Amino acid sequence: MTELSIAVLGAGPAGAAVALGLRRLGYQTCVVSEWRRFAAVEGVSQRVLDGLRQAGLERALASADAPTPRKVLWNGDGQSINQECLLDRPRFDAAIREDLYAAGVAVIEARVLRVESSADGHLIHLDSGEPLRADFLVEARGRQAPLAGGRLRGPETLSLLNQWQESPGRPGSAVESLADGWSWMARLADGRCYWQVTLDANSGELPAKDELSAYCARRRGDSVLVRRLFGDVALQPASLHARSSTAILFHEAGGPNWLRVGDAAMAVDPLSGNGIFQSLSSALQAPAVINTLLQCPERADLAQRFHQQRVEQLFLRFARTGRDFYAMEQRWSEQPFWRDRRQWPDAEPLHTPPDFGQVRVQRLPVIRGDLIDEAEVVVTADQPLGIWHLQGIELAPIVRSALRGELEPVLVALPVEQRRMVQGWLLGQGYR
Ligand code: FAD
Repeated sequence: MTELSIAVLGAGPAGAAVALGLRRLGYQTCVVSEWRRFAAVEGVSQRVLDGLRQAGLERALASADAPTPRKVLWNGDGQSINQECLLDRPRFDAAIREDLYAAGVAVIEARVLRVESSADGHLIHLDSGEPLRADFLVEARGRQAPLAGGRLRGPETLSLLNQWQESPGRPGSAVESLADGWSWMARLADGRCYWQVTLDANSGELPAKDELSAYCARRRGDSVLVRRLFGDVALQPASLHARSSTAILFHEAGGPNWLRVGDAAMAVDPLSGNGIFQSLSSALQAPAVINTLLQCPERADLAQRFHQQRVEQLFLRFARTGRDFYAMEQRWSEQPFWRDRRQWPDAEPLHTPPDFGQVRVQRLPVIRGDLIDEAEVVVTADQPLGIWHLQGIELAPIVRSALRGELEPVLVALPVEQRRMVQGWLLGQGYR
């Protein structure tokens, strides 16, 4: 393999997952990152933990707390649905670095000031030391990555992160809808407490910066859930950090010698609770895309199309999931915050009812081994990017037979277990 140098900007979950994947493919990879400038607590589901394991981020995975119950107070209904694992982000981010060091990935602790890019490579200017040269650049600086023009942008949204200390106790989290937004709160076992309120950034109703902390404390005083989860300290002003949480799909997810992954490619509304999941999803596919761009430049268009389409589909799926969740809150549906979000990004349903008449076979990009290739896949209204295999069984030949009315001999030739699985899948696609 040619000795090409790859620079990954940003050591969040996305940048780290790409760096580890490239390292496994034998590329000389260097990560450049500064530390996050604020602390936060985040909640993740089991599938994020699965993604971290798949990425080889074992120490980051181990830094997640055990699942704790999450209370939900939405549309006036109070219920405890499922669980989530709490992540203390500074601890999680430090564990990510340890995973990188353990895998032998070079990490430069520096702030990237500016990048000069051309067809020949990239010159990365840092706040310390000499500029760094790289043949290929992975942009993974999250929401701080320079804007390359937003293709799709949700309603402007702001989150105010508040933290304070109480005595150690039982951990837990809760989410609550408010007339002008929603809040998420968590208590870690060591007594660290976190309350995050998400509001419309353009509402014009927020006080001046130096009054925000007291404003948040007053709002906590109005919440039943806050009183249940925290002690009296919660009603005092706390340390505060303001962050944009607008959903953004960036204009282009990649070019011949660069790729955007994670929040740098698309940042979703935190309501989805899926930010880390989406950042890992785009990052896990990136090593095969980069490998193709570097080793098979004749397939560059295919590889770029693969990455772009997956990023866009994922973004739309999360945006529509968020929209439907906003629509479930009916008490304030005409308030600007709720009105704008229950109709963005469009009116398309999250899932389309199955219709076998719409199912077709098409040649589309897929990951084959460590490269992007083209293969015949089955495209359905719900899976526009196509499905190649069902647990190892190639679906295109089966669907072709079904469309020709010659399914029976194909099914009979399959072992019983596989036959049942394929029959179940076909029924799920509306095949009768
Ligand atoms: P990041 O994790 O942001 O990593 C980017 C890295 O790049 C950081 O280390 C940063 O320090 C570094 N960097 C940035 N600029 C530079 C620079 N100039 N030079 C060098 N380094 C730089 N997701 C969930 O799954 N669950 C949640 O509960 C959740 N809550 C959220 C709440 C809010 C308010 C917001 C805004 C997001 C939330 N998310 C949540 C989303 C989650 O934080 C992100 O999706 C995820 O961290 C993105 O990973 P990433 O690797 O793409 O970027």
